[in-house]
Amino acid sequence: MKLARYTHGGVTTIGAITGERVVPLSALDQAAPSTIREVLAAGPDLIARLTRALVGTSVGVPLADVRLEAPIPDAQKYLAIGMNYHDHAEEAARAGIKVPENQLWFNKQVTCITGPYDPIYKPRVSEKMDYEAELGVVIGRRCRYVSIEEAASVVGGYFVANDVTARDWQFKSPTFTLGKSFDSHGPMGPWITTADEVMDPHALDMKLWVNGEQRQSASTGGMIYNIWQQIHELSQVMTLEPGDLIATGTCANVGIALGKFLQPGDVVRVEIQGLGHIENTVADEPV
Ligand code: MG
Repeated sequence: MKLARYTHGGVTTIGAITGERVVPLSALDQAAPSTIREVLAAGPDLIARLTRALVGTSVGVPLADVRLEAPIPDAQKYLAIGMNYHDHAEEAARAGIKVPENQLWFNKQVTCITGPYDPIYKPRVSEKMDYEAELGVVIGRRCRYVSIEEAASVVGGYFVANDVTARDWQFKSPTFTLGKSFDSHGPMGPWITTADEVMDPHALDMKLWVNGEQRQSASTGGMIYNIWQQIHELSQVMTLEPGDLIATGTCANVGIALGKFLQPGDVVRVEIQGLGHIENTVADEPV
């Protein structure tokens, strides 16, 4: 099931995508929760019931008539792993950046989250704004000390992410957090594809374009630490909650490696096989 959060006629609600329509969840089940986080937390039985109700329904509104919003705008955590694709670690090593010996984690502060087609703002204090195509994971079940074998069972779904980065701020400190956390630098969407619809999250084509020029292209199989290893690592430290977001790393050909940083007017599109695409235009930060 593809769970979207959208605005139509001035009202923001959640729904399920079918073909080129979105059906409000309340039309499928009057008792359905009002947030995607709660739907995921309710578990596979509710998702299976909603999926059955969606078959053959004729209600809903055309996707073209709605504005898609960030599916989970109020995540409690947005964690991201750095240098996690073999080809990206190699390009970083060529630039003199040491390849980490362990999983390298940082926060994207949750205030960076923005919608799949919203503007992303070039900070007035950065001249090195960059993109990173990434597969996003959303946790579906409260968990701690999750084994690698059990990790798939705590995933609620997947989404397309752009880990937008201010490189000059990223490298000002070893934690990366400031350079990864500017407002609007966490576009996500276009919806959450629930885990039952993703046969193998480590075999998805992931691509990124800037102004129609393809920059990044990889399979999610290129990860150094796979999603299950990532969840195992994080859950040894903290309780993971439904709605928590994880960005699983980017592949080669980020802007800094090409010597091309994002500028106002640039259009950045990220697409992942089976999960849809997001497209964000770079704009000057509002005064
Ligand atoms: Mg990243």
